[in-house]
Amino acid sequence: MTISQDLFQRALDSIPGGVNSPVRAFNGVGGTPLFITKAQGAYTYDADGNQYIDYVGSWGPMIMGHNHPTIKQAVLNAVENGLSYGAPTETEILMAEKVKALVPSIEKVRMVSSGTEATMSAIRLARGFTGRDKILKFEGCYHGHADSLLVKAGSGALTMGVPNSPGIPADFAQHTLTVSFNSLDEVKAIFAKYANDIACVIVEPVAGNMNCIPPVEGFLEGLRTVCDQYKSVLIFDEVMTGFRVALGGAQQYYNITPDLTCLGKVIGGGMPVGAFGGKKEIMDFIAPVGPVYQAGTLSGNPIAMAAGLAALELLATPDLHDELEAKSQRLCEGFEQAAKEAGIALTTNYAGGMYGFFFTEAEKVTSYQQATECDIERFKRFFHLMLEEGVYLAPSAFEAGFVSTMHGDEEIEQTIAAAKRVFAKL
Ligand code: PMP
Repeated sequence: MTISQDLFQRALDSIPGGVNSPVRAFNGVGGTPLFITKAQGAYTYDADGNQYIDYVGSWGPMIMGHNHPTIKQAVLNAVENGLSYGAPTETEILMAEKVKALVPSIEKVRMVSSGTEATMSAIRLARGFTGRDKILKFEGCYHGHADSLLVKAGSGALTMGVPNSPGIPADFAQHTLTVSFNSLDEVKAIFAKYANDIACVIVEPVAGNMNCIPPVEGFLEGLRTVCDQYKSVLIFDEVMTGFRVALGGAQQYYNITPDLTCLGKVIGGGMPVGAFGGKKEIMDFIAPVGPVYQAGTLSGNPIAMAAGLAALELLATPDLHDELEAKSQRLCEGFEQAAKEAGIALTTNYAGGMYGFFFTEAEKVTSYQQATECDIERFKRFFHLMLEEGVYLAPSAFEAGFVSTMHGDEEIEQTIAAAKRVFAKL
């Protein structure tokens, strides 16, 4: 038995499923999760002393690599002054000013402690602001686990939602409408049906929770137009894409201006942070200036702000995001080439510092439907064989992968070489 296996057995006794967030249990790939003891740069290390090139990066935050010395020092400096006050600090202003400077559609921003809180609060705000109950989301997009958002499409698209989990009243879920990602026709049809009932459209501008699926040409523009037409709030959930796809997020990359933006992951530099922000007139609808309630004991926590601010300052380096995208591109091209040589059908997607690969005959994957039709069993075998090669990929065929500034040519080429050996065995 490995040490990780032993720890997992112990964890099962006192933690549901042995983990504090489901995907960590390797339920998407089978087998026993690795217990991590430390991480540095592009690498993580498990309890058995194995080293891995890490493409999970704590599910997105670690865009500067693990344990970056500047972020670490910012945390250590902040700790000297106490851990939390529950009162305003100047660091929160610096953080808000930084976010506004990097993401110009954000005129005012409220900090929270997770992506889930960010999307949940943005949805409440959009409902309060418009006085409408219904919201529109896309099948396969994940926006955290708030009740309104943990909803899947009913039978077929263009239907009212049904709960994705027990514990969510059907009465609740029926206010969540769901259509297919990348289908503007379905968006137009549902707006035609519910005309002035839809408070907001929430979308991952690059879908990263059904593998990695960028928007097709015209999709995001179309959402902007439809939202303008029906006076619905357009919310970009940039929890994953923010500061990763480009410094100004997917909205900069695709040049579309949402009304509200949700942020998480990178904005905390590895600490628990989320944020939502956007147009002043909408943001001023939240308490204490406006009637929509939203709060948090640890919101704007000084240690978390120090880490996040340090991360955002580091990211504002010229060419950094072009270089990140070049890494994603090289990885994708390397995987495709290696698969082709082994006679394995594979296609890839990337945008900035996020990427995905699909075991499928399809030339391009642009829909949730296509993502679910890929060869998941082959993915599972690939995942485990890559792990044996010292490469830690996202343990699910429905998650995007992430590169960091610390993934050098050496790590990328080692990963491609490992993939070559593994494809030969698949
Ligand atoms: N939105 C998106 C797009 C996400 O990817 C995630 C988490 N993966 C969330 C929201 C929820 O964030 P958190 O896990 O911090 O609550």
